[in-house]
Amino acid sequence: MNIHEHQAKQILKEFGAPITNGVVVFSVDEIEEKIKSLTSNKIVIKAQIHAGGRGKAGGVKLIDKSQALIEGKKMFGKVLVTPQTGPEGKKVKRVYFQEAYDIDKEFYLSCLIDRESSKIAFISSTEGGVDIESVAKNNPEKVVTTKIDIKNSLSIDDIENITKIFSFDQKQKEDVKSLLNALNNILIKKDASLIEINPLIITKQKKLICLDAKMNFDDNAMYRQAEILKLRDLNEEEEAEIEASKFGLAYIKLNGSIGCMVNGAGLAMATMDIIKLYGEEPANFLDVGGGATKDQVTAAFKLILSDKKVKGILINIFGGIMRCDVLAEGVVEAARKNKIKVPLVVRLAGTNYEKGIEILDKSGLKILSASDLNDAAKKIVDQIK
Ligand code: ADP
Ligand code: MG
Repeated sequence: MNIHEHQAKQILKEFGAPITNGVVVFSVDEIEEKIKSLTSNKIVIKAQIHAGGRGKAGGVKLIDKSQALIEGKKMFGKVLVTPQTGPEGKKVKRVYFQEAYDIDKEFYLSCLIDRESSKIAFISSTEGGVDIESVAKNNPEKVVTTKIDIKNSLSIDDIENITKIFSFDQKQKEDVKSLLNALNNILIKKDASLIEINPLIITKQKKLICLDAKMNFDDNAMYRQAEILKLRDLNEEEEAEIEASKFGLAYIKLNGSIGCMVNGAGLAMATMDIIKLYGEEPANFLDVGGGATKDQVTAAFKLILSDKKVKGILINIFGGIMRCDVLAEGVVEAARKNKIKVPLVVRLAGTNYEKGIEILDKSGLKILSASDLNDAAKKIVDQIK
């Protein structure tokens, strides 16, 4: 789960990290009242969307405080297209007004769960404010990765390793040490999977400040993080994915033209792979789970059809706990309700497979059945051509 910059900074503040002074505004009417608490003449207004790269896309603007209303109005409703939003962009629905700082240097600092080593990785770089992937590629010597065991506090050596690239003075060293401990604590106590401060700045007054902040959380831990879950902004999420989560379906929208309904994540991946093998692209990942009910199948079908790019549907079910006849009933019902117009290929195997095929055959719907996964993929790709 992602949260906004202003929310991430609030969490940083709770853990004692130095953040920018700012206020978040949800509508133009609130601007004048809320910005009274900002004391600088220059302010920066920042679009709050779940994507980085806002600066280059016009989502970060340095202005005179006197222009806050005019510039704020322009920012609200803007559609920002950044490398992380996709071509359709994201509409700005909240704006963060913050005091402007005199930046002397911009650094990069992040902390994340490294699954490969089962450790926490801290990444530090002197090249802040820019895309860290390109720094890692072009100037790897400017990026330091420090992997540490998951434990309660960082050792002196850990801190030395992470920060040596920065060449800070004594006071800044003290400050960055407490910042690192804050990041480590947030990761562990709040189940964050990534915290990125880009840039971390030193001001001309030599102060250390987190100028930008991004946080991701482990979805699987949200059952024990009620406070974090409250920060979820459904505006920022795919509508279909929200709908899917209501029905306990694992659905991720992709950009291809073949809708997939599969049970089991492994089988879903294999189905997507084989569609690609035959030269097409899947429209989604969709795992209806091991024991899907008729309601879930109906909901899954609706989700697939809500994607206008879908030109054909491939259903690939292995009936283990899931019964093929239950699935078939769901498919027939959903296909009728939604007046399906695209070709549909179904491959069933396992429990009650014969009964399932019979239900599909008797339905009078135009459904092609396939003998195995290979055959199914070939058929659906042929059909949409
Ligand atoms: P994004 O990463 O989405 O582009 P940032 O918050 O990192 O957004 O802002 C982009 C750049 O804008 C920063 O690298 C910094 O140079 C400048 N900036 C952002 N906030 C401020 C601020 N409060 N004062 C001065 N400059 C800022
Ligand atoms: Mg940034």
